Amino acid sequence: MEWKNLPGSGRGFENRGGGRGGGLAVGGIGGLLLMLVAAFFGIDPRVVTNSGLVQTEQTQPQTESGQNDELSQFLNKIAGSTDKVWADIFTEEGLKYNSPNFVRFSGQTQTGCGTGTSGVGPFYCPLDSTVYLDPSFFTEMQQQLGGGGDFAYSYVIAHEVGHHIQNELGIADQVQRQQQRLPEAQGNQLSVRMELQADCFAGVWGNRVSDLAQLTQDDVREAVDTAAAIGDDTLQSRGRGYVQPDSFTHGTSEQRVNWFMRGFKSGDADQCETFKQDYSQL
Ligand SMILES: [Zn+2]
Repeated sequence: MEWKNLPGSGRGFENRGGGRGGGLAVGGIGGLLLMLVAAFFGIDPRVVTNSGLVQTEQTQPQTESGQNDELSQFLNKIAGSTDKVWADIFTEEGLKYNSPNFVRFSGQTQTGCGTGTSGVGPFYCPLDSTVYLDPSFFTEMQQQLGGGGDFAYSYVIAHEVGHHIQNELGIADQVQRQQQRLPEAQGNQLSVRMELQADCFAGVWGNRVSDLAQLTQDDVREAVDTAAAIGDDTLQSRGRGYVQPDSFTHGTSEQRVNWFMRGFKSGDADQCETFKQDYSQL
């Protein structure tokens, strides 16, 4: 992936540094956040890695992480390219796109949705229209989730931007209202539809940058491996040894891969209609 070819962002990621510790607290931010990964336990974000884009606290003091290091450049290129792609798509539809804020933090940070911690993975807060990312998650991806890689990391960011698109389009509000009325299992189904749509939107972004970033089959495989690794069935069977489909909130590995690829192959956000299909057909 030639991410340096992508258009940079006007604003890019705000670099907040952040507090040490507390990274493993999960669930303190309630139901407001739409999280990529429901729960990661027992992973020390300070674990050492020396490869690729991932920089740990040991190699990079978090309070002094420069804006011009490779990781910052990467994040700003991905953020900037989502700004460009979605502004273009919204314009095609006669709409105006308000790009999200992007915040890079370490450990924990204050958000419009309460305290955000890195233990839950990257997340989007609809109340302040902000994508929050602790890059230590990339280390976890390398070690736990199919190996990572620059396009895999990009997919994760583009998925969170997908939630911003849903917020902009009013989908997030509608879903949240319905979830308050519905029994939990049905509410979870709506959550699955949301998440698969965000995967599809991430794929749409990938399609639209594929020429510029010179994406290869290997890049696509990185994203697909990640999508497969964070399916509810896969995470549940790894975590507790059995699966409970009623409790799925993000979709199965197969569904996540399929919806990402649907967006990626078509480049058409109208293909991401996860709310119109019968649930069993998703
Ligand atoms: Zn999500």
